[in-house]
Amino acid sequence: MTKALFPGSFDPFTRGHADIVQRGLRLFGHITIAIGINEQKQGWIPVGERVRALRELYKDEPRISVDTYNGLTVDYARQQGIRFILRGLRTHKDYEYELGMADVNRQLDSDIETVVLFTEANLANISSSVVRELAHFGHDIHRWLPEGLEYRLKG
Ligand code: ADP
Repeated sequence: MTKALFPGSFDPFTRGHADIVQRGLRLFGHITIAIGINEQKQGWIPVGERVRALRELYKDEPRISVDTYNGLTVDYARQQGIRFILRGLRTHKDYEYELGMADVNRQLDSDIETVVLFTEANLANISSSVVRELAHFGHDIHRWLPEGLEYRLKG
């Protein structure tokens, strides 16, 4: 079975992310959604809550698992025996960033290939940072999140 790693912050996980995962399942037998832990940056939703909510969302999908990792994505992928990194592309800004990341990751481990899927046009404007901003100003953010995803947030 071909396995892929979908790494990111997912703070929060949006409809755009969910779309990449669903479409990725056409290519890969199993996808691990891996939340990269950044010691310097705590983020908005606590990592434990990001994991809990995603595991709940995908509890009936045996081809998707959810995990966290510290350090470099390629090191985690190698430890897990995963050879494909799945990423999503929205804009030319994403392109620059993803190209750079893919290049560095290939230099670190040439056995690991990055596979990029283009966003659906109607999801291209969704980003975690915009959703966080909307939440900050008291907006209901559910329309930006995949159906069934619920975060338990304090305050
Ligand atoms: P990171 O902090 O590593 O950029 P993110 O959680 O922001 O992680 O995103 C993870 C991946 O999902 C990235 O490849 C990003 O480009 C992609 N992505 C984010 N939002 C969308 C979207 N609306 N459509 C398609 N891909 C997306």
